[in-house]
Amino acid sequence: MLISAEKGEILIPQSPVSSMNQLEKSISNLEEEVLELKSKLKSLEEKRREVLNKIIDTKGSIRVFCRVRPFLLTERRPIREPVSFGPDNVVIRSAGSRKEFEFDKVFHQSATQEDVFGEVKPILRSALDGHNVCVLAYGQTGTGKTFTMDGTNEQPGLAPRAIKELFSEASMDQTHSVTFTMSMLEIYMGNLKDLLSARQSLKSYEASAKCNLNIQVDSKGSVEIEGLTEVEVPDFTKARWWYNKGRRVRSTSWTNVNETSSRSHCLTRITIFRRGDAVGSKTEVSKLWMIDLGGSERLLKTGAIGQTMDEGRAINLSLSALGDVIAALRRKKGHVPYRNSKLTQILKDSLGTRSKVLMLVHISPRDEDVGETICSLSFTRRARAVESNRGLTAELRKLRETKISELEVEMRETQDNCKKIKARLHETECLLSENKKLLWITNDKHVEDIEKKAISPLDHLQETDATPKSSDKRVKISKSSGFVPRFMTSTVASRQRQTMSEKEINAKAQSIRSMVKNLTQFSTSQSLSLSDSRNRVLLRRSYTKPLQATANSGTTPETPKRHIKDNSLQRKNMNDTSSPRSKMVTSSDPNVRAKLCHHRRRMSSLT
Ligand code: ADP
Ligand code: MG
Repeated sequence: MLISAEKGEILIPQSPVSSMNQLEKSISNLEEEVLELKSKLKSLEEKRREVLNKIIDTKGSIRVFCRVRPFLLTERRPIREPVSFGPDNVVIRSAGSRKEFEFDKVFHQSATQEDVFGEVKPILRSALDGHNVCVLAYGQTGTGKTFTMDGTNEQPGLAPRAIKELFSEASMDQTHSVTFTMSMLEIYMGNLKDLLSARQSLKSYEASAKCNLNIQVDSKGSVEIEGLTEVEVPDFTKARWWYNKGRRVRSTSWTNVNETSSRSHCLTRITIFRRGDAVGSKTEVSKLWMIDLGGSERLLKTGAIGQTMDEGRAINLSLSALGDVIAALRRKKGHVPYRNSKLTQILKDSLGTRSKVLMLVHISPRDEDVGETICSLSFTRRARAVESNRGLTAELRKLRETKISELEVEMRETQDNCKKIKARLHETECLLSENKKLLWITNDKHVEDIEKKAISPLDHLQETDATPKSSDKRVKISKSSGFVPRFMTSTVASRQRQTMSEKEINAKAQSIRSMVKNLTQFSTSQSLSLSDSRNRVLLRRSYTKPLQATANSGTTPETPKRHIKDNSLQRKNMNDTSSPRSKMVTSSDPNVRAKLCHHRRRMSSLT
């Protein structure tokens, strides 16, 4: 039955064929709308990417933050604390002198892991957009580098939060397929140790040094570490599992974790593979490095000897090389010195002009550490020297801030628009998928009707009371069995089953009629169908209600198939109760297919 939109009267559809035509028309309209929305989303995504890049570049593609560790319970708090700070500066007062250092952002002692992550988040988006990104934790041993990067179970650090965020962002990307791999390694005295290799987990450094990992640079300037384990991480749980494994391997290979792990650099690499859904799209590869650097303290001054002095020297050399690279990049110098250390060689393609770098300098609040604190802050001053606010006049500084806030408004608007388009796209795709299933069922029903018509002559026979004349053995011909031998007549059980099947089919036919009714209403005005939420609700209800009954009667409900990438968050989204779910029983439902075939076989066996 159809309700005429103009006259409001009830019409009987001429044939299933006309309903099918209307369904096909509706499907083609929806398909057009999906394409249009996807192209809109693509241009919005490109705009968002551009604006984010402008924001990061205006702020400086190398950003330096400072985090001050709180006093630990075991530490005595001095009456006059040597470190004081504002939102973007740190002041050190010691022995009558006052030194001030500026940063892009300063995290006070009360700052939470969440606060720090909030500032790092935009740069992760950049990594997903195809830029190589480096997040480095720098500072003296005991100032909180590992706490910031790894954190604890209760207070997870940047690395686990960043990985989680990458999965979450990737699951919302409707125009690209995004996959991740992970690698972890440690650099100690110029040797690389693969932290995710199964074979190396219990080996000493001497043993692991034998299986040398080679740093290779390809013709495009991409750095690869030959022989380094790279594991696929399909979801956050798996990624966290590997990450924890790498951390365990790092700590078990040292005898005294706190002391010695500070003499090595620990690097975690997430490689991002991002491919557009359009045919022929290329895969973009980018890297996110999260690095817990070795302690920056000057061991020569602490009276270190032998092995400890060598380790300290190795760390200091590589940190100094890192400082040179960052300073050169800041000054946008032509020549960038990468060759001095393994660390800078590995990061060569991630500390370049197209990449984004975030350096987190950690300092101690203690009096005894003032000397080291000043050294750490001076090191990063080199990194911030050129693009920092300090080099700008008040007027230029204001102009820069205005530009950043304008860009941030534009960014928010673009993100909002993206969200709206994504929601619409999701709805349209669901409707499209349900329409396609509906068309399938209508088609199936049409074939069924034709089959029924083909067996109708049996009805005349059913009324015949024919008795064989010349035989003692009477063949009882019941009303329901027609001219069939006894072994082919129906039993009570089979009759019941048959009646059930008929009932189910009648119920299905009823529901199909009602679906077609609503769908035709829906297809008469395509724009109305997507903008009027009442229509959507009506349509969905009409799909689900009658079929729920069918589903409850022993058949398996099936979730509509959608374009879902294989990743847990996406799977989670799919199961989300808020998203429209269809209980529609389709051709792919084995129970129903079996029942329908059974029913047809039974009918045809009577002919
Ligand atoms: P590093 O890695 O620089 O040597 P750690 O991360 O091991 O330093 O930190 C040294 C100690 O200080 C650890 O016990 C750690 O839990 C604690 N700590 C560091 N930063 C913080 C912080 N922001 N809040 C609470 N505790 C911290
Ligand atoms: Mg540490």
